[in-house]
Order: sequence, then structure tokens, then C-alpha cells
Amino acid sequence: MKLLEDRIREDGVVLPGNVLKVNQFLNHQIDPELMYALGKEFANLYQAEKITKILTIEASGIAPAIMTGLILHVPVLFARKQKSVTMNDNLYTADVYSYTKKTKNKVAVTKNFLHATDRVLIVDDFLANGQAVNGLLDICEQAHAGVVGVGIAIEKSFQAGAQLIRKRGVRLESLARIASFTNNEVHFVGGEDSEE
Ligand code: 5GP
Repeated sequence: MKLLEDRIREDGVVLPGNVLKVNQFLNHQIDPELMYALGKEFANLYQAEKITKILTIEASGIAPAIMTGLILHVPVLFARKQKSVTMNDNLYTADVYSYTKKTKNKVAVTKNFLHATDRVLIVDDFLANGQAVNGLLDICEQAHAGVVGVGIAIEKSFQAGAQLIRKRGVRLESLARIASFTNNEVHFVGGEDSEE
């Protein structure tokens, strides 16, 4: 998606450890118009799928997820990160290792909000090693909910996540796909300067 790629080129900052900082429009300050455009794109890509729910993970997935839900007229559910979940059998939980914070979180969703009749679109801001999405897929599995696919704003295609999700047999659509970072520059998959 050109709009998102242009914005990443303009405002993205490459940090050590293959982390892209996009605090100008996604991870701290949020550009609602750009988020709306992402939502429209996800809604368009998955329009045939009769989606009943968007599932994301707090906090940075919520902005693109809520716009997708607004356009598709379906609720948006976000998994909460909790240091420890006390025995509560009203929760679906999964362990998620955070790529940026280097900590393990238990993430949880209340059982009342996710059902076997749901057709879920998982949305997140970034895909790196796929831990966050994997956790959300596990939660859907526990609920016996159907997953129609995953929508990612920014995929770092050189990391393991994209392959991991496809290996689970799940459709993946990413709006910007990063092939590599060199000298603080971002190279997109299929871009003029890409090697692919
Ligand atoms: P994964 O679970 O796929 O390894 O990492 C995805 C999660 O880590 C995303 O939800 C996002 O919050 C965070 N993340 C991974 N890579 C980056 C990055 O390069 N920049 C930012 N800002 N967040 C990232």
C-alpha cells in the first residue's frame, strides 16, 4: 500500500535490533486518517469473508483494528496483556513473547466475547516473529472460533512470522512488507531497490 510505504519512508526511524520506530503515526501519536485508510484496505481485502469480529492485542493494534471494525460494522476485541492471570476460568489465555520489550506476557480475552460462531479477522500493527499473532490464533482455537485471516499493517518479511502464520494455514495480508533495513533506510518487498 503506497500510502503506508510513503509514510514509513517519511517518518519511520530504524533502530538497532531491526526495530522500526513509527511513533509519528502508529505507536504513540496516531494518524486517524491513515488508520482509516488501513481499515478500508483490510475491509476490502476480506470483504467476502462475512467477518463477525476483529481481534487484536493491546495497545498498538487497536488503532488499525478499530477502523476495520468501524468499516465492517463489527465489534473489535483486544487481548489484554497481564503479568499474571489469577485462576479464572472465564478467560482464554496465551503466552506471548514481546519482540520490542523482550518480556513474556500472558494475554487474555474474556470467554463471553469470543464464540464458536465467530468469523474472526486478526489485525495487528507489526509482524516480526509472529508471537503476537500466534497467541491470538491460539486464543481463537480455544474458543473454536473460525479465523478468516490476518491483516498486518507492517510486515518485516525478513523475520519468521509471515512463514509461521502461513504454515498454520492462515491467510495473511500485509499492507507494507519490509525486505530489509540498510543504513537507516527501509527497503520494501518488490520495491525498485529490492533484491527480490
Ligand atoms: P511478533 O510477535 O510478530 O514477533 O512482533 C509483533 C509485535 O511486536 C507487534 O505487536 C509490535 O507491537 C511489536 N513489534 C515487532 N517489531 C516491531 C518494530 O519493528 N517496530 C515496532 N514499533 N513494533 C514492533
